[in-house]
Amino acid sequence: MACLTCQILQGDIIPPGGIFYRDQDFVICHTLDVNILWYMIVSPVRHIQSYDELSSKEAEKLGLHIHTLTRFLKTKIHDIQKIYICSFNEETHHLHFHVFPRYPWMLSSENIHSDGELVVIIRD
Ligand SMILES: [Zn+2]
Repeated sequence: MACLTCQILQGDIIPPGGIFYRDQDFVICHTLDVNILWYMIVSPVRHIQSYDELSSKEAEKLGLHIHTLTRFLKTKIHDIQKIYICSFNEETHHLHFHVFPRYPWMLSSENIHSDGELVVIIRD
């Protein structure tokens, strides 16, 4: 079975809002399982598992896509405090980057359970 990202690329899984952006090398879409508005995933189209497998051209494009996305998010979200960018590739072994805003409500103690889990609620 294809990985989650490859299933999205094949159209077998439709992310919330559909594909946000796609070109021949990269796809950007909203995450499937985190209810934080504008929690985006940036992935290469090629199924590769680590950053070093990107070609130099792909690495350049990746940087530009993340840069453009972060600028877009800052214009789209008025109360944005920070934008986090990270990559884990633990559950889905298709290289991907999480690009997501930190909203002010995320730091409010009322949004944190006693076990430290963040309550994720879309507040727009
Ligand atoms: Zn894949």
